[in-house]
Amino acid sequence: MRRAIRLLSAAESIVDEAHRHNVKVTIHSRGSTSTRAAAKARVDLIYHADLATQADLDIIAKAGMPIAPVLTSPWIGVAHDGAGRGLGDRVRDRLRAQLDTSFQMIRNARDRGISVMSGSDTGNASAFSHGRWHGKEAELFVNEVGMPAMEAIVANTSRNAWLMGLEDEVGVIATGKFADIGIWNSDPLADITVLQRPSEISTIIKDGRIIDSGTGGFRQLSVEPPVPVRR
Ligand SMILES: [Zn+2]
Repeated sequence: MRRAIRLLSAAESIVDEAHRHNVKVTIHSRGSTSTRAAAKARVDLIYHADLATQADLDIIAKAGMPIAPVLTSPWIGVAHDGAGRGLGDRVRDRLRAQLDTSFQMIRNARDRGISVMSGSDTGNASAFSHGRWHGKEAELFVNEVGMPAMEAIVANTSRNAWLMGLEDEVGVIATGKFADIGIWNSDPLADITVLQRPSEISTIIKDGRIIDSGTGGFRQLSVEPPVPVRR
């Protein structure tokens, strides 16, 4: 209990000081105690929140910050042996359980109106390189959590633009924003997995200029999980 109180007062001091300097505070929090303390201290965003209980989520919902769960990284561990890292059965079982817990936590969060952003752990070098798996988080949101496809896309675009402090510039297609736009040949609302298939990208527009069409430019790992096929 005393440890929880110390954690809370430390978190509150950090948040107060950061906000005085107009800086956002995020916490990388897996457990219940740290997630609850972060929510009470009114951080701006909670990463992971895997083990947030219903009571923790009530506090998050009341405080109003979003969460950014991470599904893709453990999913690669479960489905593809950690991209060839040779994970043992025990580690895989633990990651599988972690995923199931996270899926349910996200459902519980959405039931409370908590905004869910796309975490993914993309760029976590021990698991997978930057770029290749951005679309996977959206697929897991839709197919495992039950999130509508548009909400999964918004979690990856406008909501994450807010996190980067770029909400006035990118994340939506609107007058006055940068025209940074990816166009696919297929409808991701009908099949969210198209976001993982570079072969179906029609055009990439950056600052209103077409800079690429038909890219296949992911950095390949020595062992790459297979690209999902159209269902
Ligand atoms: Zn993480």
